[in-house]
Amino acid sequence: MWKCNVCGYIHNGTEAPEVCPKCGAASDKFAKLTEEQETLITKSSRTNDLHMELCQLMDSIILLSEEGMEINLDPGCVSTFKKAKEQAEIIKNIAKAEIAGHVGKGKW
Ligand SMILES: [Zn+2]
Repeated sequence: MWKCNVCGYIHNGTEAPEVCPKCGAASDKFAKLTEEQETLITKSSRTNDLHMELCQLMDSIILLSEEGMEINLDPGCVSTFKKAKEQAEIIKNIAKAEIAGHVGKGKW
């Protein structure tokens, strides 16, 4: 694995790419990751994907809740959807903070 020292893009391959797909930096801006760094990335990949999927699910709950509040069938419904939306926003922010923490520790 290789990391672009300009933008942080991680490339999987035996050699650095000719050009960084994200920022356009030349291949000499890439540094080869150590085995330890590669292990961290490999071990955390699936968990980071799960956190991102959790964020998407929370977005669905937020949209669903907003529709339920807009329909406004009765106060019990509105209260339930309001709580669901609030909890989904909290869970989404927790998952995002977790991903940010992982990236900060080299767990991309
Ligand atoms: Zn780059």
